[in-house]
Amino acid sequence: MRCAEVKEMIPALARESQPSLAVRRHLGKCRGCQQELETYRNLIASLQTLEARAVEPPPGLAAQLIAIPRGASTVDHLRSHVTRNRAAYAGGTAAAVAVAGAAAALLWRSRDRSPQRQRRTGKGRLATA
Ligand SMILES: [Zn+2]
Repeated sequence: MRCAEVKEMIPALARESQPSLAVRRHLGKCRGCQQELETYRNLIASLQTLEARAVEPPPGLAAQLIAIPRGASTVDHLRSHVTRNRAAYAGGTAAAVAVAGAAAALLWRSRDRSPQRQRRTGKGRLATA
């Protein structure tokens, strides 16, 4: 049996008490697979020592979930959300367009002053000796 075959089985082996004879033979002579199996067994043992914790839902969650209409799809929810917040989205879109425009204008201006442009136009060429 090869290491790759055994390593695929190690997560399951870590939970079982009796691996097959072929696996036991491999584990008997392969230190790497032995270590990996031991690591998995230690991990499982560590996980079992963790205590179960109950997480309290945020207040009002139950009421919000109950308030969701049964047949409403996600698209309907999004549509109504956008409708309710149309002014905020329009303002945000306008601001984004203004910022993009300003950035494009700055890029365009900086492009005009780039060395390639100056070389092409002959402006700003340094005198060489
Ligand atoms: Zn091995």
